[in-house]
Amino acid sequence: MKIEDKLFLDRYRVSEESHLKIADPGICMKKCGEQPCLYFCPANVYRLEEGRISVHYEGCLECGSCRIACPLLNIDWTFPRGGFGICHKFG
Ligand code: SF4
Ligand code: SF4
Repeated sequence: MKIEDKLFLDRYRVSEESHLKIADPGICMKKCGEQPCLYFCPANVYRLEEGRISVHYEGCLECGSCRIACPLLNIDWTFPRGGFGICHKFG
């Protein structure tokens, strides 16, 4: 089974409020270099769009990688608020 097929089996209850925030978007473009968040997130949450890093928090798997793997510790990470987020029951 491919990873895309497995991800399709996950279900989400999406909050209107993002639980992931880039603390200082300016340093992403000026100081980060290779912008590894574009590669290490298994759910492709971080994307380079219109010259900045956008955060598609709706698909977050809550694996926690980005809270430690951003080299500038520039991601404010929390779990989604109660009752929201991913449900692995089907995956
Ligand atoms: Fe910004 Fe961190 Fe992504 Fe670098 S890895 S672009 S500092 S969020
Ligand atoms: Fe991606 Fe995991 Fe961070 Fe969610 S917690 S944005 S899935 S790296």
